[in-house]
Amino acid sequence: MFESLSSRLGDVFERLKRRGALSETDVSEALREVRVALLEADVALPVVKDFIASVKERAVGQDVVRSITPGQMVVKIVHDCLVETLGTAEDINLAAAAPVPVLMVGLQGSGKTTTSAKIALRLKTLDKKKVLLASLDIYRPAAQQQLEILARQADVGSLPILMGEKPVAIARRAMEMGRREGYDVVILDTAGRLHIDEALMAEVAEVRDAVTPTETLLVVDAMTGQDAVNLAREFNEKIGVTGMVLTRVDGDARGGAALSMRAVTGRPIKFLGAGEKLDALEVFHPDRVAGRILGMGDVVSLVEKAIGSFEEEEAEKLAAKMAKGKFDLDDMAAQFRQIKKMGDLKGIIGMLPGIGKLKKQIDEANIDNRMINRQEAIILSMTKGERKNPDLIKASRKRRIAAGAGVSIQDVNKLLKQHQQMADMMKKVSKMGKKGLMRHGLP
Ligand code: GDP
Repeated sequence: MFESLSSRLGDVFERLKRRGALSETDVSEALREVRVALLEADVALPVVKDFIASVKERAVGQDVVRSITPGQMVVKIVHDCLVETLGTAEDINLAAAAPVPVLMVGLQGSGKTTTSAKIALRLKTLDKKKVLLASLDIYRPAAQQQLEILARQADVGSLPILMGEKPVAIARRAMEMGRREGYDVVILDTAGRLHIDEALMAEVAEVRDAVTPTETLLVVDAMTGQDAVNLAREFNEKIGVTGMVLTRVDGDARGGAALSMRAVTGRPIKFLGAGEKLDALEVFHPDRVAGRILGMGDVVSLVEKAIGSFEEEEAEKLAAKMAKGKFDLDDMAAQFRQIKKMGDLKGIIGMLPGIGKLKKQIDEANIDNRMINRQEAIILSMTKGERKNPDLIKASRKRRIAAGAGVSIQDVNKLLKQHQQMADMMKKVSKMGKKGLMRHGLP
């Protein structure tokens, strides 16, 4: 889902190629595009503004971790902010005396009835709850029968249908049956409406007052566009929503609605409907949904992988070397291995957004991979002594190493120069570190 937003951001982040700390200009430019993308994806304007502001605050000046690009870094920050805006995962709240009333509300066709049965099945299977389903939809022909059939499929209880009964009376009867027959949960599926309709809204409010639901779940189709904001606001103001369910995330819907609904109501999205079958109900995972909204879940995991594997594993070893101001060619080779360990570069590039330019990127990745292999080969063609003490490497040794690695002498020089720069940097860092230690270690 949410392709359009993803491809848009993909283009944006491809332009950010430079390394170093993220500058205000970098971030502003990227965020201008993110803003347009979010608006195009139907996220409400105030939500977009807040969101952009918080991303900007966090991104400017942030250091870009070695082995990832600034673009990927911004993706990670945008992703993290999205996760926060989307809220934490929360399970259905059943903390009340049984039978716990759960009210399902939403527009007609949003997937309310299906979701009612899905939740019933989930509660029965995972939580071993005894669940009763009741349809309060007396308007749509066969709505009550539909829920009855779904209840049978899920093998949960359903309230016998009495023709001509009013919604409030049905709700009361359901609660009564729930109490009498020892049900843990009673799920009340209210009548759908095509639009926000005052009369039907008043009816739902009446049902709410009659049963005082522990949960009132607003079911919204993920394909709902800008309307989702009004919808969520209206239902929340008039009925009081405790959670939301986003259905049809298996389709190619836009993600903007989810973001603004959450921001507008402050209510958690509790479940995702991901198909017509009754087991197609997923617990809401903000990180996964954010990844899907951005279409960049893989980039995020790539960044996490990079930070995790590179930073943590090597940091200790490197820190020890740095403390001594040492960085020899073996350390450099270890760095190359680290980069390769992150995965085949081709694979990594393949994970990046911007499918259109994928082909070109893969070609470039090949070159990168070859380059790393070549540099590694140069180091491997050196003797142990040379690797520990690069100063030994004079003209004749360079010729031998170049021949051994199958590269030119310039390539060997380039590598040695690169190493020298890194070693110098290590020395500086080491000195800074010592001063730092003194500062902290001495009173
Ligand atoms: P209601 O009017 O809100 O009660 O909506 P229904 O539960 O009757 O659902 C309307 C249609 O959407 C049905 O054909 C469902 O099978 C389908 N549907 C419901 N949830 C999902 C979902 O998560 N994914 C897909 N693909 N279809 C769904």
